[in-house]
Amino acid sequence: MPSKISFEIDYMKSVFLDPRKGFEPTEENIQVRYDPLTGKTGHFSHVGAINAQKLDLEKYQDPLVKGYCPFCGELKTQATPKFADELILKGRMMQGESLLVPNLFPYDTYSAVNIMTDDHVVPLDEFNNKRLTDSFSVGIEFLKRVKSEDPSIPFHLMAWNYMPPSGGGLVHPHQQYFATKYPGNQFFNELKASKTFFEQHQVDYWSELIREEQNRGERYIGKLGDSYWLTSFISLGILGEILCIFPGVFYIEQFTGQNVDELVSGLRIIFEYYLKKNIYSFNASLFFGPGEQGYFPAHFRIVPRTFLNTRDYAPDLNFFQAIMQEPVSVVMPEDLCREIKENFRV
Ligand SMILES: [Zn+2]
Repeated sequence: MPSKISFEIDYMKSVFLDPRKGFEPTEENIQVRYDPLTGKTGHFSHVGAINAQKLDLEKYQDPLVKGYCPFCGELKTQATPKFADELILKGRMMQGESLLVPNLFPYDTYSAVNIMTDDHVVPLDEFNNKRLTDSFSVGIEFLKRVKSEDPSIPFHLMAWNYMPPSGGGLVHPHQQYFATKYPGNQFFNELKASKTFFEQHQVDYWSELIREEQNRGERYIGKLGDSYWLTSFISLGILGEILCIFPGVFYIEQFTGQNVDELVSGLRIIFEYYLKKNIYSFNASLFFGPGEQGYFPAHFRIVPRTFLNTRDYAPDLNFFQAIMQEPVSVVMPEDLCREIKENFRV
């Protein structure tokens, strides 16, 4: 049976006279890939040319560098807002070290910040099972609560900027949880394309993607319970992207404690791999579709972030992403998959 999903690649070469080789002609390979769901393009070039930069985490503890942190010590309860009792009884939600509060600078109608830990600086290997499980559990519970109180808001998502290269304004670990009518262009584009795919093929794209990637074996990492982990055909981050799909979980109410466990287990494996690769920062998101649809399952994405160097602190995003809206990656998804599979020994 022909595949319902096509993976298209335009292989290109750039030829120049190379000063490093006495101005002999040199060829560089470049790929442009088409996202199999949305059709959007993504570049792959300079493969292997950029490595993540080590961050001096100790430095962030230095009082001179640290400055004011509203998530530390007593400020955590004194300097953060509360929800109205009608939404969240006693104004805040907590589990273990995790404390979920409204964002003092909200991005949307429902905009919560989840302060994940008591510690201000938490290296990746200190995100133990309990810390991650408590954080995700309290965030998911918040989104479920909001949905039951205000079902008119259709979309729910978690977003996480970890450490300064990711754009995170505070070093202290925190996630953000949103209930929104406007979950962003990436979400909308994928939601619309998933609906079209479902109407054409009577099967949801994401389940089909898992089947296809399992058969091909190039980007399929593995399965943890009901969660499926793979590297994306196009990477939104310069150092590659890992995707986790929860087939059959089409909206927030269907996301169970077991799904949280699966997400945490996979994430800890990724963190182990990141530590090996000197990756100290990332952006991550967990998207939930609206109710009453069967084509847009919950999925989690994580992309490493880094400064290009710590001399000038150049960020790893530039005009390609900011203006051309074109992802560029220096890591081939197939290589990333092969590498991380070694850590994914389940
Ligand atoms: Zn802090």
